[in-house]
Amino acid sequence: RGLGDVYKRQILYNTVMKMTDSKNLAELLFPLITKTPSEYEALYPPRQLKEGARVTRFAPSPTGFLHFGNLFTCLISYKIAKSTDGIFYVRVEDTDQKRKVDGAVEVMLRGLSYYGIKPDEGVIAENEEKGIYGPYKQSERKDIYQAYAKQLVEEGLAYPCFCSEEELERIRESQEHEDIKGYYGEYAACRNLSFEEISKKIAAGEKWTLRLKSPGSIDKKCVFEDMIKGKIEMPENVQDIVLLKSDGIPTYHFASVVDDHLMRTTHIVRGDEWISSCPIHLQLNKLLGFKTPKFVHVAPIMKAEGEGKRKLSKRKDPEAAVTYYSEQGYPSESVNEYMMTLANSNFEDWRRANKAEDINKFPFNIKKMSVSGALFDIAKLDDISKTVISVMDCKKVFELSHEWAKEYCEPLARLYEADFEYATAILNIDRGNKKPRKDIAKWSDIPDYISYMYDETLSPDYTLCGNATADLAAKVLKIYKNSFDINDDKDNWFERIKAICPEVGCTPNVKEYKQSPEAFAGHVGDVSTVIRVALTGRTNTPDLYSITKLLGKQRVAERLNKALKHYEEEI
Ligand code: GLU
Repeated sequence: RGLGDVYKRQILYNTVMKMTDSKNLAELLFPLITKTPSEYEALYPPRQLKEGARVTRFAPSPTGFLHFGNLFTCLISYKIAKSTDGIFYVRVEDTDQKRKVDGAVEVMLRGLSYYGIKPDEGVIAENEEKGIYGPYKQSERKDIYQAYAKQLVEEGLAYPCFCSEEELERIRESQEHEDIKGYYGEYAACRNLSFEEISKKIAAGEKWTLRLKSPGSIDKKCVFEDMIKGKIEMPENVQDIVLLKSDGIPTYHFASVVDDHLMRTTHIVRGDEWISSCPIHLQLNKLLGFKTPKFVHVAPIMKAEGEGKRKLSKRKDPEAAVTYYSEQGYPSESVNEYMMTLANSNFEDWRRANKAEDINKFPFNIKKMSVSGALFDIAKLDDISKTVISVMDCKKVFELSHEWAKEYCEPLARLYEADFEYATAILNIDRGNKKPRKDIAKWSDIPDYISYMYDETLSPDYTLCGNATADLAAKVLKIYKNSFDINDDKDNWFERIKAICPEVGCTPNVKEYKQSPEAFAGHVGDVSTVIRVALTGRTNTPDLYSITKLLGKQRVAERLNKALKHYEEEI
């Protein structure tokens, strides 16, 4: 008794159950649905776009959590539309009321907008939509889905199923030894109910779901072309999947196929976990008479773990949440740059050749996407971000980091607000140099980076390096505290430091020191180190002259004295 028999029976049944029966059944199930699919087709006509323009979408469920992988896929979707003067729209897939979280749409849209993704159409705020292909929230499209569902019933391609949870469970148990499990073929208990049987059950108030009468066959394959993965071959769908739940709300599969069609999507860009749904989507498109959009399945972002790699995980990795980047204070530009390196392997070469070019000029190419999943590396993001920040002007650094501080770092905001000009001047040190310093990867690096410029946050570490010893330090500071002049220009300032050298057994000439190190206690670099450590409590800082100028006469004097005291005690 193969499935072949079941299908023969079905064909027979379909002929016996006359067209009038399916029409009557459709009326019985959907008495209030009066609009027909062709009316909706007319209401949402094909878009008048120029040749080659692509229509893509981002279709999140409003869970309130935006995964970095989702943002990445969304960016790809956006690029695909924008690089062809097409349309990118946002559709909210909120048919699963259990997963719905208040305010989630707003959180998500804010996430997108932070990275410069502006939908042309669709849901653009919690309660605001734009465009003529809406409504763009699935919960507001019930009648549309039901019109298409009604058509499927009329055509004998869908039927009501009255099976209870317990009955479905019993079916599952009976399939223990089957290769294919689920509601299909002979297991589909309600597939061949007669019109009379159905009418009786409905009259008795029995609850029903609407199922697809799948024409698929277990020994047939469906083949489709994915723009990233290439040709994919999978078994045809044989499951009589649920199209409408008992409350009349569609399932994801049904709703998304109807929507992608009516919203005239040309390219479905989504995570590759949805590849397994393609046989169902292909079948639904065919049965509904729709042209199947092109598929672009994006591989997940991976993370190295031990020898292998795994998906970036919401549970294990804080950086899986898109909010992580704004909380840490990565400028959106940095994250966008980084996402492009993950998207197209040739992006970095392009960037090297086009240092100052707008990122949107990069010729993004779907074909260059990773098939198996790009590897996430936060150190790489930091590197990229340091470069991005190093070439920003100080005003921009100040403004962006101030915005960040107001939200995430109150003490920094307070320091900034005490003296805007002073803060901007600190951030300006060494900026604009030929080879700008790369100290800041994210705004949360700033409090530490500038801490020594404020007495409130200074916590000096007087540890020295190189040839500088406490003894040398004490000698240098004793002289420098009397000789420094805050009004020096840079040359004079350095001359004064050099002048200390012979008095403390050092040479102002590094070359000379290298030739006979035994002849000296150190060189001008060591003398500078002493002064640097005394003023900032660090061995590595940006330009010491600028720091000295900004600190001002009084603070310089205080700090030199304090350090001198420290070294004298140490000797
Ligand atoms: N609502 C689905 C999700 O949450 C969208 C899948 C699709 O893009 O088709 O990911």
